[in-house]
Amino acid sequence: MEENIYDGIREVMQITPESITQCEPCMYLPKNLADAINHYISHHGYKLLHVGSNAGLDKSGNMVSDIIALLGK
Ligand SMILES: [Zn+2]
Repeated sequence: MEENIYDGIREVMQITPESITQCEPCMYLPKNLADAINHYISHHGYKLLHVGSNAGLDKSGNMVSDIIALLGK
């Protein structure tokens, strides 16, 4: 049987380049999205569940797209 990466996940968190903030448990401030993902994986036991694009329209109707990463543990 294939291992399901979602098994046992009880808490999911999403990160986008704009939403990077200081890490709550340890006050670490990630330099960029990849740094934030690496930090949560190596220091807080999260697994990377998904990375994709988050596209939509801004208030002026212009197409905007962004990267979104979902982490879970
Ligand atoms: Zn941390």
